[in-house]
Amino acid sequence: MLQQTRVAQGLPYYHKFTERFSTISELALAEDDEVMKLWEGLGYYSRARNMLHAARFVHHKREGVFPHTYQEIRELKGVGDYTAAAIASMAFGEAYAVVDGNVYRLLSRFLGIDTPVNSSAGKKEFAQAADEMLDCEDPATYNQAVMEFGALQCIPRKPDCGHCVLRSGCEAYKTGRVEELPVKLRKKYDRKRYFHYLMIASQDHVLVERREGSDIWKHLFQFPLIETQRPLEMEALLAEVGLPDGFEVREYTSLAPHKLSHQTIYIHVLKLNMASADGLAWKGGGQWVPKSDLETLAFPRPLRQFLDQNQLNLPFGPRA
Ligand code: SF4
Repeated sequence: MLQQTRVAQGLPYYHKFTERFSTISELALAEDDEVMKLWEGLGYYSRARNMLHAARFVHHKREGVFPHTYQEIRELKGVGDYTAAAIASMAFGEAYAVVDGNVYRLLSRFLGIDTPVNSSAGKKEFAQAADEMLDCEDPATYNQAVMEFGALQCIPRKPDCGHCVLRSGCEAYKTGRVEELPVKLRKKYDRKRYFHYLMIASQDHVLVERREGSDIWKHLFQFPLIETQRPLEMEALLAEVGLPDGFEVREYTSLAPHKLSHQTIYIHVLKLNMASADGLAWKGGGQWVPKSDLETLAFPRPLRQFLDQNQLNLPFGPRA
């Protein structure tokens, strides 16, 4: 849950999960939709799918017993070097060094390493440095200490080096490069995507569909979507969709840009009212759900926020 997510944001989700699922097997036996719903709003939904996959693996292949060694933990779906090292060292005392963003920063400054932290050469160099520094007698305490030190003392901007216990051994401090380190390669790629959602209502039902394929927000629900290379004005969108007669436009809204790690989603929502749903054959299929069910379905975060803001304002009207 805490991959790419702050503790304050993840904690309520952790409590919800542990209240609902007190064992791995309980999680393994849950429906996908229930898990996605509990995860709704936390983002990076592949983590929820991976966690469920891992729970089912542990339940079916390991009789519900969580693995105790780094190598076995690393084999669980969604678990990379960092998570495996964190679990193996803190839960089972194995000597594996964790390297997260805070540790990269601290090591880069303390050792004066200017290899970009997000290059493959950098990853190797920092992993090796972290292994060499690790306290093999007490890896759990050491790992937690370096992560906390990076998070609280050796912070990204203007760390208080004058009151730092590591100051006398810190290369960056001695050479005046604290603000220059760590070095990061700029992301070359920030893809812009334009999502136009059709929120079509007929009487007390709304048309929704489930996202499939390998794209973002897999298995979450959404409204029928038109994705384009450029933003569309309402008239152009209506022409693109080609709706049958008998609809009424209620509103065309732009949401705040939604930033993900390598892409920004620009979302527009067109609220429509259909007198009758009979003539409407949506290409993706979709399903009509009662308005009251929207609460129980897992939507991507920006759509959930939009729904929460518009609950009293849905474009319902009489069905012919
Ligand atoms: S002296 Fe400054 S740069 Fe060096 S470890 Fe301490 S806080 Fe970080």
